Amino acid sequence: MKQYLKLKACHPDILLFYRIGDFYELFYNDAKRVSQLIDITLTNRGISAGQPIPMAGIPYHAIDNYLIKLVALGESVAICEQIKDSTTKMEIVERQISRIVTPGTLSDEMLLNEYQDNLLAALWQSSDGFGYATLDIASGRFLVSEPINRNAMSEELQRTNPAELLYPETLQDLTIIKNCRNLRRRPIWEFELQTAHKQLNIQFGTYNLTGFGVEHVPLALRAAGCLLQYAKDTQRTSLPHIQAITVEHQNNSVLLDADTRRNLELTKNINGDNKNTLLRILDFTSTPMGSRMLQRWINMPTKEVSTLIQRQESIRLLQEITLKIQPLLHQVGDLERILARLALRSARPRDLMRMRHAFAQLPIIQTILSKQVSSCYLFTLLKKIGNFKELYNLLVRAIVQSPPLLIRDGGVIASGYNIELDEYRALADGETDYLEQLELRERKTTKLDTLKVGFNAIHGYFIQLSRGQSHLAPMHYVRRQTLKHAERYIIPELKEYEETVLTAKYKALSKEKLLYDELFDLLLPYLAKLQHSAAALAELDVLCNLAERAETLNYVCPTISTQEGIYIIGGRHPVVEQVLDEKPFIANSLSLFDKQRMLIITGPNMGGKSTYMRQNALIVLLAYIGSFVPADQATIGPVDRIFTRIGATDDLASGRSTFMVEMTETANILNNATRQSLVLMDEVGRGTSTYDGLSLAWAFAEELAKYIKAMTLFSTHYIELTTLSEEVEEVINVHLDAVEHGAEIAFMYTIQTGAASKSYGLSVATLAGIPCDVITRAYKKLHELEMLPISKKIDNIRDTELILPCQEEKLELSLNPVLKTLEDINPDNLSPLQALKWIYLLKNML
Ligand code: ADP
Repeated sequence: MKQYLKLKACHPDILLFYRIGDFYELFYNDAKRVSQLIDITLTNRGISAGQPIPMAGIPYHAIDNYLIKLVALGESVAICEQIKDSTTKMEIVERQISRIVTPGTLSDEMLLNEYQDNLLAALWQSSDGFGYATLDIASGRFLVSEPINRNAMSEELQRTNPAELLYPETLQDLTIIKNCRNLRRRPIWEFELQTAHKQLNIQFGTYNLTGFGVEHVPLALRAAGCLLQYAKDTQRTSLPHIQAITVEHQNNSVLLDADTRRNLELTKNINGDNKNTLLRILDFTSTPMGSRMLQRWINMPTKEVSTLIQRQESIRLLQEITLKIQPLLHQVGDLERILARLALRSARPRDLMRMRHAFAQLPIIQTILSKQVSSCYLFTLLKKIGNFKELYNLLVRAIVQSPPLLIRDGGVIASGYNIELDEYRALADGETDYLEQLELRERKTTKLDTLKVGFNAIHGYFIQLSRGQSHLAPMHYVRRQTLKHAERYIIPELKEYEETVLTAKYKALSKEKLLYDELFDLLLPYLAKLQHSAAALAELDVLCNLAERAETLNYVCPTISTQEGIYIIGGRHPVVEQVLDEKPFIANSLSLFDKQRMLIITGPNMGGKSTYMRQNALIVLLAYIGSFVPADQATIGPVDRIFTRIGATDDLASGRSTFMVEMTETANILNNATRQSLVLMDEVGRGTSTYDGLSLAWAFAEELAKYIKAMTLFSTHYIELTTLSEEVEEVINVHLDAVEHGAEIAFMYTIQTGAASKSYGLSVATLAGIPCDVITRAYKKLHELEMLPISKKIDNIRDTELILPCQEEKLELSLNPVLKTLEDINPDNLSPLQALKWIYLLKNML
């Protein structure tokens, strides 16, 4: 217990798995907590200060299963191993913490989701701004950035979605991290800049960090320093696969905020699973590392035109050979994560087997591809992929064809690899004729023809005589086991032989472990090259996948232009077109350019407005990951961000109503959109009274079109909004139509110029199954409302919306002259929109 308490004192906040023989045991509060968390039995072991010590134990071979559960619950676990056997019974076994498993530093295959990056992150905030660092320990990818403001920081957190986040104890603004998983509060000194420089230089073996271009991101370096220290502390081993630190600049990518990512259903749908998402349609990659890379591309489309052109060219070239390359890539598997485990020296025998199998594919990939490429980007990729023939040969010689899961019980190193091992094994397996000779000799001297030499796992080697001859056994035969028809004996010579065999077994196993360890030493010098190769293979996988998708789904290569504007002919929604099984998808075009920056989209509910808006955003996004797009033709100019304000969901968890969510998202758009932003606004202003809603929608549209001049698709059911085009030149009206046939309605799904003439709300309600008599009453009410004189409507507004109780008198005073004017010009002659503008004007005056 003394030894335990000493080790526990170093890790008071995390669970300590304490190895005792064949078990990991937890004591005191750790035992209680773990038994509650994952339902394992809480018992007692021994007594301390007169009290039984609470204990919970798990068998050592089942540790992974428990770790999976605990880590999923956000726990960190320190694993304490017995490092040396005691020589005498009385001596205490030496123990040491061998590693700490935390949610953000996983590398074990069992603990990781192969289709998701698992990031450890650290954040720093000072009065100058934010610093952010992320590390994917399962690949060695180490990235830093300095988000420019709170909003950008929060977007980065949402985009990267770290599994564990380190933050300084002095962090003021805790709301920014409140939705993050597994927060770890760290002491401020871990974020010191000088220490960070030192840590990073040690890690990369450099004198200074100039080569990484990180000099100008001191805030990010602070975060990186803390993060690296944490990673090292938990892994308890060097991390040679972290070879560089890269600065990510937000202006290099098309920014997508969390709302947009969610609204466009990129990798998750609105319900949080991955059905009917862009990723589901697009991801037919052959390797998990390719799949993870594709997700990174989708979450962070790039603005670097040269990169996009390279990808497009490669996709074009690969289209003919994807069928040949993809099965090979499938065989390559998750080389990236295997290499991380190699670097951490935790790779298992099957990792090495898979690595060998991956290497075996490389020459074939090289041959197929080199025929196809000459001087393009694929050629560079091919060079990076390399060959690794020597390493392949080494692994063929060293590892058996299909090795067991663990090195623990041996049987991993192939015969012929090491003479000494072969000799021990031969001895251990009794592969000499010694036993045969012994049998012959004994039979001869005893003259007993039933005499046999045998072996079983419990009793070891024995000499067996049949029951009939057992009474003739020589005196020096010592009985070991009695069977029904036979007796088994042992003689000193055989016992000696047994000892030799057992020692040989032990020696073979030790030698095997040593050789296995040496293999790491032989492979590790190639780590950097191997990592480049894995990254290139992952990229080849993504490009092959995009080539195959483009071919299968009939996508075209978009033109990436430096001229502002978006032109799409015959565009389709990549997901909706796949899920419509009966009817065909109707393609639609889009033109946004200098003189036409906003489309006001009207049309019936269910008419296809959202689909049209989203399809255009998705086409732009696909173009900016370098993919081909679902259209007949597309030319896409510079886009800095995609914003969406779509759908209405209450954010009940944080106590925000639908309307509040809508306004917060719109505020974000109005504050951050620029001329080069693509903005989708879907029916804003629905969550409040008609006039409020219409006024807001009007003002938003006007702001976006007239002042921000963003490229905007604005769908609305306020027909009044369509007159905005009369005022703002860059606004045009388009609509989606439907035809009513008696009580039935058929949607056309074709975008047409001009505003919709009616809203078809009641027909759609009929379609939804609202009972007939309710619909009839609705028609009656509609008729009544349509008959209402405008002056009446204005009275309503005046009463309900303009006069605030606290300022009643003053307001009446200032309003009266204006209202008077309004009456003078006879409100009944005003169009609803003109009336509305009056109201708007009045509100501004207040
Ligand atoms: P709105 O936003 O106008 O209410 P949606 O965009 O949600 O309408 O479209 C409703 C449904 O109509 C979609 O789920 C889809 O099944 C179908 N739809 C939309 N656009 C098209 C299209 N271009 N071609 C075929 N079906 C479409």
